[in-house]
Order: sequence, then structure tokens, then C-alpha cells
Amino acid sequence: MTAFAPADRADARRPSSPELPGRALARLVRDAAVETLWPTRCAVCDAPGQVLCDQCARALPAIDWWAACPRCGAPWGRLQCCECNPVTLGASGRTTLPLAQAASAVALDEAARAVVVTYKDRGERRLADVMAGRMAACVPPAWLDEAQAVTFVPASAAACRRRGFDHGALLAEGVAQRLGLPCARLLSRPRSADQRGLTRAARGANMAGSLSALPKAVEGPVIVTDDVCTTGATLCAAADALIAAGAPRVYALTFARA
Ligand SMILES: [Zn+2]
Ligand SMILES: [Zn+2]
Repeated sequence: MTAFAPADRADARRPSSPELPGRALARLVRDAAVETLWPTRCAVCDAPGQVLCDQCARALPAIDWWAACPRCGAPWGRLQCCECNPVTLGASGRTTLPLAQAASAVALDEAARAVVVTYKDRGERRLADVMAGRMAACVPPAWLDEAQAVTFVPASAAACRRRGFDHGALLAEGVAQRLGLPCARLLSRPRSADQRGLTRAARGANMAGSLSALPKAVEGPVIVTDDVCTTGATLCAAADALIAAGAPRVYALTFARA
């Protein structure tokens, strides 16, 4: 039994149509002109050449899965987690986490924040590939044994208009491609719920019920992705909606973790 509509899988694996030679040449000329006028620079140190230079990529504070909390993904929470204990969960109005497990590629330090801001707010879409690569590399093998698809927290309509793209969708596509899973749009955001500047409790209340699952068959475990996990409120709201729609387990994967 397939857990997702066949169209989703077909879309995810259909090869893109070959580019016409004229168009390919025009794209090369345009890219060369853009590169001359606005040279590619590292999102962190501003060195020319790459969207994230090798040195800055190596310096990003990678989260060690073996030291992190296996449940919520908090760095150093393996033995005793200060993020998903009953007191912390109670502050956000929960008794248990709806996520089966969560993992993040890096801790959100100044450099990781620069990567996220350059990607999302300065429109450097090429960083999606770099970020998705780091995310896919930290997926525990056990998730892959059962996950049926990768999905994502959709950006609000206002954010999509402001940025010109859905940053979450682009990241999820990169992750799905690397994991060999279909990328399925399973969530919608009926009302805008900007989380910036809110406290932990306010984030929980703001996100509660703000995401809903699209009317598709969600029968298998899924991996939900997002760029940053701050308090986990958004990922928990996504998990609530997916579980209500039939997902037996939801794993959460982000690029950075605050
Ligand atoms: Zn750099
Ligand atoms: Zn935890």
C-alpha cells in the first residue's frame, strides 16, 4: 500500500524536461553577467567565490546526534534534557511531545543565523542546496527505515509574497532528493502566525491550530522539515496536524536549532 497519492511520487521522481540549447546559452550569458555585477559571496565571511565558503561551512557548530536529546534534538540533552522535560513542556501548554524524534544539523550561532537570513530574507536560493545537504546528512538511519515522505512547514502567504519563494518548500525538496523520498505538500497555513519576537508560551499559543493537513492520505510516517527550530512550537503544530490526518509518527528535521 502506498501511503501517498501516486501523483505525489510520480511528480517527485519525474525527470525535468531537457533544456533547449538556445535557452541554456541565454542562461549561461545571464549568469555570467550577474556574477560580474554581483559576485557570489560567502553568507558568513563575505569572501568571494561560494555562497558558503569551505572554512565557514566547517566552522558551523554541528550538533552531535549522540550527545543530543533523542526526543527533541536539543544539543547535549542525551542524558538529561532541559528542553522537553515536563516543566518546559508545561510552559508551552503540553504534557508530551507529538514528535517521535527531532534532529537539527547545526546550533543557531551567529554564523548559522547569517546563513538562514541570507537564504530567507536576502533571497540567496543557492543556499538551499547547502542547507539541505547538511540536514539530510544528520537524519538517523532509523527514520529512513519507515519514513514515506518529506514534507515542510509552509511559509505564510505574506512571507511568500515578500520573499518571492517558499523557503521551506525549497529546503524540503533538497532534503527529499538526497534521502530518495518523495517531497509532498501535506500542510497548509490557513492563518498567518509570525513567531518572531514571541516568548515560549506565546509561541505555543500562537501556533496552536495554525497549521492543518491538506486533504490527502497521510498513512505513513513522515519527516517534516523547517529552517530553524526555536522553541519547537511550529514543528509540534505541524506534527499535531499530520497525526490528526493519519500519520502514525512524525519526525522533525531542521537546519538550525536555537
Ligand atoms: Zn566564509
Ligand atoms: Zn529533549
